[in-house]
Amino acid sequence: MLDSLFRPKSVAVIGASNRKLTIGYRIIQNLFDMEFNGPIYPVHPKEPFIKNLPAYPSILNIPGEVELAHIVVKNTMVPQILRDCAKKGVKAAIVNTAGFKEIGGDGIKLEEEIVAVAKETGIRVFGPNCQGVMNTDPAVKAYCNFTFTRLIPGHISLFAQSGGVGEVVNNRLYELKAGIRMYASNGNACDVSVSEILKYWGDDPETRVIICHVESLSDPAAFLKAAKEVSMKKPILGMKTGRTLAGAKAVSSHTGGLMKQDATTELVFREAGVVSFRDEEELCQAALAFAKQPVPKGKRVGIITNTGGPGIISADELIEAGCLLPDLSESTKNALKGKLFPEASVNNPVDVLATAGPEHYKAAVEHLLADENIDSVLVNFITPFFVDCEGVAREISALAKNAKKPIIAIVMTEKHGWASTLETFRNAGIPTYDFPETGSRALAAMSKYAELTARPADSPAEFTGVKSKTVEKIIRAAFESGRGTVPQKGAFEILAAYGLGGPKTEESSDRASVLAAAKKIGYPVVLKVESEKVLHKSDSGGVAVNLRDEKTLANAFDAIHKKFKEVSPKFLVAEFVEGGVELAMGVKREEGLGPVMMFGLGGIYVEILRDVSFGLSPLSRGRALEMIKGIKGYPLLAGIRGRKPVDLNRLADMLARLSKLACDNPQIAEIDLNPVFAFEEGREPVAVDVRIILSK
Ligand code: ADP
Ligand code: MG
Repeated sequence: MLDSLFRPKSVAVIGASNRKLTIGYRIIQNLFDMEFNGPIYPVHPKEPFIKNLPAYPSILNIPGEVELAHIVVKNTMVPQILRDCAKKGVKAAIVNTAGFKEIGGDGIKLEEEIVAVAKETGIRVFGPNCQGVMNTDPAVKAYCNFTFTRLIPGHISLFAQSGGVGEVVNNRLYELKAGIRMYASNGNACDVSVSEILKYWGDDPETRVIICHVESLSDPAAFLKAAKEVSMKKPILGMKTGRTLAGAKAVSSHTGGLMKQDATTELVFREAGVVSFRDEEELCQAALAFAKQPVPKGKRVGIITNTGGPGIISADELIEAGCLLPDLSESTKNALKGKLFPEASVNNPVDVLATAGPEHYKAAVEHLLADENIDSVLVNFITPFFVDCEGVAREISALAKNAKKPIIAIVMTEKHGWASTLETFRNAGIPTYDFPETGSRALAAMSKYAELTARPADSPAEFTGVKSKTVEKIIRAAFESGRGTVPQKGAFEILAAYGLGGPKTEESSDRASVLAAAKKIGYPVVLKVESEKVLHKSDSGGVAVNLRDEKTLANAFDAIHKKFKEVSPKFLVAEFVEGGVELAMGVKREEGLGPVMMFGLGGIYVEILRDVSFGLSPLSRGRALEMIKGIKGYPLLAGIRGRKPVDLNRLADMLARLSKLACDNPQIAEIDLNPVFAFEEGREPVAVDVRIILSK
């Protein structure tokens, strides 16, 4: 329970100060300004008063009970102060002081020390190197933070790993009059974690939507579990920064976060049902909509407009974001024909025409809300001089009061002249947007949430005929020969043991046995160098394909043999597999997440275009299919320009089996199948190159 942190009955500030330009002063001032509902106890070694409050030389001298303490003293003093706090019975401490994990060296030790005190005494530590928390609940009014952002009580709770991002978002939400419930920025997060905070807000009835900014997830599995649980109850809007290498570097020096999971945070977001954003403004605009309106059940939007162009922009934005603009039901169309102008369009978008007044908008909104084909309503309204705009706003507002579906309004107007029209919308809790793009994206985010949370539950795929003993044997043999990877022949055998298709292969060590192997397999064949020292075989001339007879094979052997003499290689002879669409699959074990799956177009595409999708293990066939459909090159697989589609179900099965193989064998750190050839309906996909890297 984090009540002591977010709903403290009393607050001490250790390191309080009378000097205005200090954190120790600012926190006290902020608590005053917010009219905190409990006693504030400044602690200062000498000063008798801070502002006009009596100050105490130590936390232990404070007469009353202290529930929450801010610690703003020098880093090396923090462990002792924390012990004093615990002795005093303080339940939670916000350590604003910096100079811990983020500076490395002694900082790491100091942080370990405060974690140890927390464990030993049970005091909860928030931070260090952090801003703090805020709670606008009228019963609390805690501004336990040193920033300047102003707060309007409301329903958005905001977590920001970076206090700077928190401030920017907070400020914008204030400008948008969006309303904040609680805020938290926990810096190094040595004890109280983002997952705990999410769960706490998940249980807070006044929090309707949660914003969650992260730079790195230190415990992705815990985050996934918490966020999944909470997002079923209320929307979480996520933003991950530090996506580029330069950004990532800035992160690690910033909060001492670990960047290992960088590429997978988006995946965790999706799996948890978190709606992901890349832009702070878009995030704030969406939060406004989520805070004020009910969430839609699906992504089918009905548009009402009195102006053509902006209606088209709205439609474009919505469609591009994955929303649908379905036809209206017959009864809606018929009803609207009788109530709108004869020239009005009763398709979706509904064009009520520029001269439409309150009764026309009323009819359109009312019927779209009632239409079972529609999940949400987007109103475009440009305010003409010749229309009772206030009346339009009033009618829509009245309908919004009891609506179970969200209504978003794009009010294109001159804000001073039509201030009261805007006010009418806002007072009814209808978010208003200046641009069709902005409002449409906010509504699209709501639709995305509906889509993410409506995903069917995921049950891992079951397989029969898996030969796990074979796999264990091959891995053991590789370890015993001192290798960190599995030789190609063994790697193909591992694949086969899990039902993953590959070519027939033989390993040979000289010319004669290479020729014999080819005879056994049957021409045409492929010859590859086999050595742990050769990573990219074809780049260095270690692969010869489509060898049709003994003579060409013998020549290829001589060339490869000569080229790789120094590494004393072996040779792999493989069946030549013709045709097929070239794909890549892989799996990589990530700390805290287990085997993460990758799928993409093969060969150079995966390297240059980075057109890949990711998935978590154990992967179900359904999620595997989502991964396949998630790449941009998917149309190539679905069949375009007369090409037959590839067997998607067999491909999905292969991905799911690969996931199972990795899950069952923790000694496998990484598997790369590149390329995999996929074929049309009825034929198994085949991996023609495999690399299995073992864990140290
Ligand atoms: P590497 O990736 O180490 O360079 P590969 O084993 O992937 O080597 O071989 C390089 C290319 O040769 C593959 O991308 C594929 O196009 C082709 N190739 C390899 N093995 C076969 C095979 N058995 N059948 C058909 N083509 C193959
Ligand atoms: Mg390859």
